[in-house]
Amino acid sequence: MEKKRSMSVVEKLKEHQKKEYREADHWYNLPSIRKLSRDRHRKGNQNSRSDREQLPRDGRNLIHTNPLAFLVGAVFNRGVHWKKAWEIPCCINQKGKLDASKLAKMKKSELVRLLKSLRVKPRYVDQGAETLEDVATLVERDFAGDTAAIWRDASPASVEKRLQRIRYVGPGIASMVTRILHDDCGMFRGQEQEIDIKPDVRVRRVFERTGLTNSKSENEARNAAWRLNPDFPGELDWPAFDIGGEWCVASNPRCPSCPLTAVCPKHL
Ligand code: SF4
Repeated sequence: MEKKRSMSVVEKLKEHQKKEYREADHWYNLPSIRKLSRDRHRKGNQNSRSDREQLPRDGRNLIHTNPLAFLVGAVFNRGVHWKKAWEIPCCINQKGKLDASKLAKMKKSELVRLLKSLRVKPRYVDQGAETLEDVATLVERDFAGDTAAIWRDASPASVEKRLQRIRYVGPGIASMVTRILHDDCGMFRGQEQEIDIKPDVRVRRVFERTGLTNSKSENEARNAAWRLNPDFPGELDWPAFDIGGEWCVASNPRCPSCPLTAVCPKHL
């Protein structure tokens, strides 16, 4: 019975992905960026306008078209709100420093000063400087300045391994990158079994409340995705993240209108 219910939740999550995660119209059409321009769930929500305005058009274009901006935004997706994380590369670009060769020449103290001067900063500036230092080294030293070569013609597992050479980038961020490259850029076809979920707080909340897991443990969430959707564990990532942000919020979840309501045991 439990297994059957879990599978129904998984099927609904996959349905939500197919229905809502629209086909990318160009490179780096990130789901997070796309959410800023849609009102779907937020009608009547006073925050919707300011949400959309948090990333200026130039910033969105930059992430869509510049692989280094995409990578920098991705690696800062920790400890700060995701919308802010994607703004960091745009802020670095405004300072004229979004260039791996320039960044690679900077000392850690200079990187700290750069990050401190930004309008949007990483939560821990010291650690952020080390992350940026490693991004620049990886791109410049190992990939001759070509950021996209990190993932071009590589398997998801090897891309994730490369990304985890960057300090403070763990399996969660690494799998978020491969999942976005798969969903938005059509990469890694036929290798989906290597792409995991990023067990962030929203995903873990949805997994626990729907009975896919018994706790908010990251490992349990990752294992549940492997077990329940072995052909493509990461497929459950975006729909759970979306539902965790729009319906299954921390307080007062909106169960009646939630896409999972028919199959969810609502472990609140
Ligand atoms: S909002 Fe309610 S129905 Fe939807 S996933 Fe959360 S607990 Fe389940």
